[in-house]
Amino acid sequence: MATAILCMSFFLRSEAAPIAPSITPAPASCEISATEYFSFDLVRINCPDKSADDWAVKHLAEWYGSLAPKVKAGSTKKTGLGAEDYELTVGKKAVEIKAETLQGVRYALYSLRQIAIPKRGTLKVEGWIVPKAVIKDSPALSFRGIHICWFHEREPWEIERLVRLAAYYKLNYAVIESWGTFRSDVAPWFGWPDGTMTKAEISRIKSIADDLGITLIPQINVFGHATMSRGGAGKHASLDLNPEYQPLFEPDGGWNWCLSNPETRKLLSSLIGELLDAFGNPPYFHIGGDEAHGPSCPDCISQSYSQLFLDHIKAMNAAVNAKGARTMMWHDMLLQKNDPRWKGFKANGTAETAEGLLGFPRDIVLCYWFYGDPQEAYPPLPYFKGLGFKTLACPWKNIGGLKALALNARNGNADGILGTLWHHDFGGDLVDIYLNLANSAWNAGAPVKRNQVKTHLRQIGWDMKNSDPKRAGIFHYDLPDESFLNN
Ligand SMILES: [Zn+2]
Repeated sequence: MATAILCMSFFLRSEAAPIAPSITPAPASCEISATEYFSFDLVRINCPDKSADDWAVKHLAEWYGSLAPKVKAGSTKKTGLGAEDYELTVGKKAVEIKAETLQGVRYALYSLRQIAIPKRGTLKVEGWIVPKAVIKDSPALSFRGIHICWFHEREPWEIERLVRLAAYYKLNYAVIESWGTFRSDVAPWFGWPDGTMTKAEISRIKSIADDLGITLIPQINVFGHATMSRGGAGKHASLDLNPEYQPLFEPDGGWNWCLSNPETRKLLSSLIGELLDAFGNPPYFHIGGDEAHGPSCPDCISQSYSQLFLDHIKAMNAAVNAKGARTMMWHDMLLQKNDPRWKGFKANGTAETAEGLLGFPRDIVLCYWFYGDPQEAYPPLPYFKGLGFKTLACPWKNIGGLKALALNARNGNADGILGTLWHHDFGGDLVDIYLNLANSAWNAGAPVKRNQVKTHLRQIGWDMKNSDPKRAGIFHYDLPDESFLNN
């Protein structure tokens, strides 16, 4: 949707390069005063969903304690706004919020939280003020996701913080990929014995995500990346400590699952069901599927690999469908490497895997990842669309590339966006990815202010009752780890 962007601040008088209040993602249309502030005493909520009032009371109390503004129920008539749209007006007497759903009210309050500041001139916070503002907002993309890796070294609070930030930036899906960290009851040997992705932690983070308006999607890899460890680390989260399960994996490093072994399908189907249950039966399950190697066991080599691959994906999709969910899958193995049409556009497949795609059930969502410099067009997107698949555009940390992919999605060449962090889920890349992903998934308007994310992470730290310096900011420590050596 091409919404006119109007984001301006008025009455800036200082000559010392003043910084006006702003909101991430930049709203479709907003006017915010940099100097005219009103006391933040009253929020009136006009929303047909009455649960929005309770949500507002609860979270304003969480954010502002005893100084929280009062919440007043306004009109409950239909607003005519879209399900995620909101309108926010800050006037002298009250803040007015208009939205059709609780989600719209959440988004209005997230915007409000980003521009409300403590009253000036006191030692401690004695009240809150908000700038005069008129905001109308509506997301450009209906699927706005972030892919988060739950690595062996990552602790639950880090995953929770990434999910909270995604919700605060109005993304509505977070894929959580287990890197050997999911603690399965079906197959306790499947991941590392000390993995922190326990069912209790999944359930705890899911309930936070539900409350904040973001849906969690579980992921395990059912083709390549079966080591559940970064290629460079050389570890295998299943086999290093459990050699008896080697027949389930291809002999070439255990990187691929053995697709011809019927036990593989049985196990992976059970794990998919177990994870979907653990995540409260979300609408999607991501099966990975990228960067697989060729077959290396005699049973796989002697069969038609395109048929084997197709049958495997169909079985995985059936396990996902059995729980009422849809399959998501990375795209690269579905394009033949040497096909000139895909040159430079990430094709890792063979003739067999590319042929397999043609038989895929069309309810599978293809996640097209591309991490390079911006391109005007991405030929695989119309190709997948022409075959009848829904697609998501999946950028990483090349911000020009992220914006170009998002533009393609906003122009209708993909059905949404799924940003990725991989092992850059900290520092400047974390800042740039979140800010630009959110901005691009909404209206791609105003320039992004990098400094904001640090304030926003601080607010999230307050929500999480953080008392550990390591858990603040974008790095664990002020100095790099090696600076502690040789002294
Ligand atoms: Zn095999």
